[in-house]
Amino acid sequence: MKTLRLDSPGEFKFLETEKPTLTSEMEVLVKIHSIGICGTDYHAFRGKQPFFSYPRILGHELGVEIMEVGDQVKNLKVGQKASVEPYLNCGECHACKLGKSNCCEKLKVLGVHIDGGMCEYLILPADKLHTSEVLNYDQLALVETLGIGCHAVNRVEVKSGQKALVLGAGPIGLTVLEFLKIAGTETSIFDLNAKRLDFCSKHQKANHILSETESLEIAGYDVVFDATGNPNSMKLAPNYVAHGGKLVFVGLFQGDYSFFDPDFHRKELTIMASRNSQPADFHFIIKQMEAGSIDVDSWISLKVPFEEVKGSFDDLLSKTDLIKAVINLN
Ligand SMILES: [Zn+2]
Ligand SMILES: [Zn+2]
Repeated sequence: MKTLRLDSPGEFKFLETEKPTLTSEMEVLVKIHSIGICGTDYHAFRGKQPFFSYPRILGHELGVEIMEVGDQVKNLKVGQKASVEPYLNCGECHACKLGKSNCCEKLKVLGVHIDGGMCEYLILPADKLHTSEVLNYDQLALVETLGIGCHAVNRVEVKSGQKALVLGAGPIGLTVLEFLKIAGTETSIFDLNAKRLDFCSKHQKANHILSETESLEIAGYDVVFDATGNPNSMKLAPNYVAHGGKLVFVGLFQGDYSFFDPDFHRKELTIMASRNSQPADFHFIIKQMEAGSIDVDSWISLKVPFEEVKGSFDDLLSKTDLIKAVINLN
């Protein structure tokens, strides 16, 4: 089968590899149809992804077709379409026992820590597949991305009518907005990138679309989400949280984070991290997409045939107005 491997930063290579076969009764063989591209892939391509080793087959946002199921797999059928939860957890650590498979101590993310889906076929544990009779492969590939926002919003248990601010209108910030809208909050989005904000206006993604730092309300929001991964933004983020409010770091950066403790105490702030997403998030997202509450079609600004990925990845990196690129395999 055709496989695209990232051998070193900037160096993709097409290989002919062996089609995989089932090795356990709880596994499933899937055919890859759509692959979403995200920041992690770009960072890996540029050699800027921490804890990343080469060579690696990328691809963790996958829309797949079930081709073969192991004898003990009862809930899946050949021919079904599915989204893939790419977080392979150990099932035994402290986090796993608490049901927090998203932050397993030994977590391996497909396409990041182990080889992913930039190939024709993949073997996966059956419980990592989430099917839909309604969604297409591109939509299914974006379920994982949406999971990032879904989990981040679940972290704060936000209530209808509360004021929420999202810093950063990139794909991750957009996913956070979708779930804040579903929760019934009054949403504000902030970014310095005009093209990203234009997209938010055009598709009515938020109640307030803000491009000036001065328009952000100091201590004005019940919940604040930082989806920038930018240390300067993350440093300022606590200022916007109301007394008794919550701050979620969805994006991350490589470095120390500090704050002035009296400010933290005065507001009795809650600051939390959000990492990946959980199986229940996949079910919830697929239901919302099927019902039309989340429409990601406008996000897909570019579709790339698998054969052309090698030559076009550089190009994708320079397009600042690109919300989401999806690779299609036939
Ligand atoms: Zn991703
Ligand atoms: Zn674990």
